[in-house]
Amino acid sequence: MSSLPSPSFVPHEAPSFYGLTRARLAERLAERGLPAYRAGQLFSWVYHKRLRDAEGMTDLPRALRRDLVRVCDLRLPRTLSVRASRQQETHKLVLELEDGARVECVSMRTARRLTFCLSSQIGCALRCSFCATGLMGLKRNLRPEEIVAQVIAMGDLHGWQDERFNIVFMGMGEPLANYHAVLEAIRILHDPQGLNLGARRITVSTSGLVPQIAQLAEEGLQLGLAVSLHATTDALRDQLVPVNRRWPLAGLLAAAKAYGQRTGRRVTIEYTLIAGVNDGPDDADRLAAFARELPSKINLIPYNPVPGLSWRRPGPDAVEAFAARLYPRAPAVTVRQTMGDEIWAACGQLGGLGTEP
Ligand code: SAH
Ligand code: SF4
Repeated sequence: MSSLPSPSFVPHEAPSFYGLTRARLAERLAERGLPAYRAGQLFSWVYHKRLRDAEGMTDLPRALRRDLVRVCDLRLPRTLSVRASRQQETHKLVLELEDGARVECVSMRTARRLTFCLSSQIGCALRCSFCATGLMGLKRNLRPEEIVAQVIAMGDLHGWQDERFNIVFMGMGEPLANYHAVLEAIRILHDPQGLNLGARRITVSTSGLVPQIAQLAEEGLQLGLAVSLHATTDALRDQLVPVNRRWPLAGLLAAAKAYGQRTGRRVTIEYTLIAGVNDGPDDADRLAAFARELPSKINLIPYNPVPGLSWRRPGPDAVEAFAARLYPRAPAVTVRQTMGDEIWAACGQLGGLGTEP
């Protein structure tokens, strides 16, 4: 007879609580003969009462409190550093993950709203030519719990006073290239017994992965979609956003249009303005024509500098002139207020810059 323990006796590491949907947690509890409503109680303790230690969960049976470590792991990644911008409106957090990888996320407060900008990958494989994350290449995908943990870290930082925050997947990585983990995290954040974040408060930004845009349209969620257009001809977009060679403009716009029709939501067209590259009057006219094709709004992002890249941000007058040319021609236009660039927290600046504790 072998002296090895049977597999069921081999201790296994419990999965992270923050990566479990309530249904999945209920399944794990059921394996131990526990009723599904315990999963709801746990969600309430963790996501509403912000308790991360089983001992204090007083309405759970003592045995469950003791055994919870075998069901799920309540520990969160360590926050390595928090940097605040001069006006304190932007914070950049660096979290250290189990394998030592570092993930960056950013919170932004304006007079009107609090927004959490989440990363979906460490690095990014798509290598857009103006983006710091792209320069890193792809290190790895984030797991659902590593995405949810970013929300918790930023909520903790802000004391959860403002329950009505928005989240945008505009940090490191291409969310639709890590589709399943991103959707799982969204389902967890969306759960009415958890953080109860409405789908309309969540925006997924993509550089243009056409099949995944079509898939997202079928999820039955009213998620906001932002498409990073940045160029209005295939020749230029091939250079700026290389994934355009795989999925050129015509197909991308068709997918974005179908997304808008299917979900009833206006699609955001993101357009990073780069001096002398895509900021001319013809660009504005073509951009307006694209925007009129679908229910949309245009969000202009003045380019944020990335060390090692030689692109330049147009001056304020050039940005204003571009926007002014769009206004009468396009359905809706906003210029994104640059936030946090002095702490390397602005769009496209996440990639290990200024992250030392
Ligand atoms: N990968 C996703 C989301 C992350 S980037 C995407 O590409 O959509 C969020 C937005 O910032 C995108 O529109 C991206 O193209 C833009 N961006 C990247 N680098 C930038 C830079 N240096 N200045 C301004 N915007 C930038
Ligand atoms: Fe990746 Fe988005 Fe940066 Fe492009 S802009 S390299 S898709 S993170």
